[in-house]
Amino acid sequence: MELHIVCIPGDGIGPEIIREAKKILEKTADVYGHKILFQDILMGGASIDVHGVPLTEEAVADAKAADAVLMGSIGGDTTTSPWYQLPPDRRPEAGLLALRKSLNLFANLRPAVLYEELAGACPLKEEISSAGFDMVIVRELTGGLYFGERKTIEENGIRKAIDTLTYDENEIRRIAVKGFEIARKRRKKVTSVDKANVLDSSRLWRSVTKEVAEDYPDVTLEHMLVDNCAMQLVKNPAQFDVILTENMFGDILSDEASMVTGSIGMLASASLNDSSFGLYEPSHGSAPDIAGKNIANPIATILSAAMMLRYSFNLDKEAQAIENAVKQVLSEGYRTQDIMSQGMTLTSCSEMGDLLAERIR
Ligand code: NAD
Repeated sequence: MELHIVCIPGDGIGPEIIREAKKILEKTADVYGHKILFQDILMGGASIDVHGVPLTEEAVADAKAADAVLMGSIGGDTTTSPWYQLPPDRRPEAGLLALRKSLNLFANLRPAVLYEELAGACPLKEEISSAGFDMVIVRELTGGLYFGERKTIEENGIRKAIDTLTYDENEIRRIAVKGFEIARKRRKKVTSVDKANVLDSSRLWRSVTKEVAEDYPDVTLEHMLVDNCAMQLVKNPAQFDVILTENMFGDILSDEASMVTGSIGMLASASLNDSSFGLYEPSHGSAPDIAGKNIANPIATILSAAMMLRYSFNLDKEAQAIENAVKQVLSEGYRTQDIMSQGMTLTSCSEMGDLLAERIR
């Protein structure tokens, strides 16, 4: 298979972690007989320095023409970098927002996995963390409260702010379909999270989700109220496979789920549109404090590349090979500094990439 991948190294540790992800993709392509065409584009601070804007129209066109986009991270130190003296629409993050919008990425996937070997970093009690967990939060990304009409008015001398939460059935159906499709590639369970005891939008969410479930008889659907879900994530995270939810609930729950893994350098993410196209990136930022030192953990980016193979190219075996290599390297005791613990072997960013590449089979 021929894969056309646009890479956005970006800023801070971005170029270092993207270099390692390319190394792993190249090795995987070699082992499984694929051909990859990589093309780099500039975004964020790197683009501001060259073009004066965080994203050019040419870069958008290149991203659109690719099969998928793999990104490192963008942005600098928000207190010292001159990029943050610019007006908000010219700062690094504006580039990412513009790219997401122009690619119509409505589904955000955030896996939260607790690796046995890193259980010590999990802030939960051992009796809970020892069961491990492996879930993915599928969050609607372009609707709901964050995109509804909003205003602040004054009524009888009292300031009043109004935000509107709107979903139509098509918006719900397309994200539900993504959730069920993803569950089919996993343990076949969807937990749809809403606040149907209070909100009309949640009642519609629940009824459309039930309709979609009829097309997926092999997937189990359960409904859970968002407040209960927030509790269950710390009480019994092992129960979850796919959590399907709307924009704001997903924003909050995905950060909570990330936190309980305890390892920011291990967390991948993906944003998908209606086609197989996706933007894949680590959940962490550009870590300017450790940039250029070859000490960043490249695993979140490498796991994002594995998601890309699975969701944009349907290459499940190849994705699994990368995930297996990560498990193997951890069980052999190799650690970058962010996940280092006593008795383990410290590796640099590039050494971690080499160790993983050697274990792709
Ligand atoms: P951050 O995630 O970059 O860093 C938080 C802490 O985690 C730092 O101590 C950092 O050294 C560490 N860390 C992060 N990733 C790591 C890795 N792979 N290996 C080892 N340690 C790692 O968050 P921040 O400091 O709040 O933000 C820094 C910049 O990143 C800001 O400009 C912010 O806007 C940007 N940012 C970008 C994205 C994105 O591109 N999607 C997301 C979040 C933040």
